[in-house]
Amino acid sequence: MFLGDGMSVPTLTAARTLMGQRDNRPGEESQLAFEAFPTVGLAKTYCVNAQIADSACTASAYLCGVKANRGTIGVTAAVPRFHCVAAEEEQHQLSSIAAWALEDGRDAGIVTTTRVTHASPAGAYAHTAARDWESDADARVDCGTDAVQRDIAHQLVHSYPGNQFKVILGGGRREFLPDTVIDEEGTPGRRSDGKNLIEQWQVDKISRNVSYQYVWNRDQLMSAVESQPDYLLGLFEGSHMQYHMQANKTTEPSLAELTEAAIKALSRNEKGFFLFVEGGRIDHAHHDNLVHLALDETIELSAAVARATELLSEEDSLIVVTSDHAHVMSINGYTYRGGDILGPSDDLGDDGIPYMTLSYSNGPGYRPYSNGVREDVTKYDYHDIEFLAPAAVPLESETHGGDDVAVFARGPQHQMFSGLYEQSQLPHLMAYAACIGPGLHACD
Ligand SMILES: [Zn+2]
Repeated sequence: MFLGDGMSVPTLTAARTLMGQRDNRPGEESQLAFEAFPTVGLAKTYCVNAQIADSACTASAYLCGVKANRGTIGVTAAVPRFHCVAAEEEQHQLSSIAAWALEDGRDAGIVTTTRVTHASPAGAYAHTAARDWESDADARVDCGTDAVQRDIAHQLVHSYPGNQFKVILGGGRREFLPDTVIDEEGTPGRRSDGKNLIEQWQVDKISRNVSYQYVWNRDQLMSAVESQPDYLLGLFEGSHMQYHMQANKTTEPSLAELTEAAIKALSRNEKGFFLFVEGGRIDHAHHDNLVHLALDETIELSAAVARATELLSEEDSLIVVTSDHAHVMSINGYTYRGGDILGPSDDLGDDGIPYMTLSYSNGPGYRPYSNGVREDVTKYDYHDIEFLAPAAVPLESETHGGDDVAVFARGPQHQMFSGLYEQSQLPHLMAYAACIGPGLHACD
């Protein structure tokens, strides 16, 4: 399963156009890798208590098959956000499709460009009343020093199913290290319990007499792909991985490289596997109105999917690509065919001032009028990755959108993913096709 965090339908349209324009074509006719998949559907993203979702309650929907409260992960809606005890109670805990795969003797893994403890990947393994409790220090802020709720990083290393994942690749070293430790690239740890979870992860593998490797840069990842340890943990940044356009490509692997490493590791299991791959920073760029980066991260997700389609046969591997929620970027105006997707509309506003084809309903790109006059943002270099696309309402962080998201499917039972349905249906459909999990199975 591939997830573009915040990858709304307009994001797809704009990203494919940019991809084509990078090849000196008009662009609109381009196709992201997964847009060639035979089945497309739409998913409704609202949560139990939210018209417009966040990445936590949606992760419970598309990985555990149950809608929940905003800000919670892997627990039912009986758990209110920030409740210090309820998420520890077994009757409130959901199991994910990653656990269903493990219970059937298959392998499981997660890949993300965010911290591996961030909301989306945490849906595969964590049970928490608060997405922010990534380290024990965060949980203590809300629940005190004797909090019973285990933080997300601790759950990944020590609890089922995270402790059984064969592959864990992404960012977020700081959540695993004590606040007295500086990591390989200079980021201080955040844990206040003194635990070094990266060491503990390795000690756990030693005690189980399995081979393992911890890597923190691209070269080490490439050699781990050759040596094929039983368990692979790769943490490539203190926090989130860098945006692809800003990353040092010799030290930081691309999402496609991470995906290939994971698929090669997991494909050793004859019975198959469940892999979750997230392009997690589309969302972050949108929140900052950094539209060029949001589109580039989408193109990177497409490249990762393309790599997966080369490595996995359509006959026996179901690939589903979707998003957790939308954003409020719109594609507006009456620009002619082939117009620069990052540029202004061919039109002017009624005030005689240009406006941008890609604009946001809200966010930090808001510019106050000066003397009643709207700013002409075309005076800036709008291809610069730091250019803030204009927003109508001032907000420090642009919001999510409440619109439906697209679902693309290829492989066994792909046609089930057509139509319009609840987001929480996704893991049940995947499990049906894969013949795992608690429900009906295609092979029954
Ligand atoms: Zn977001």
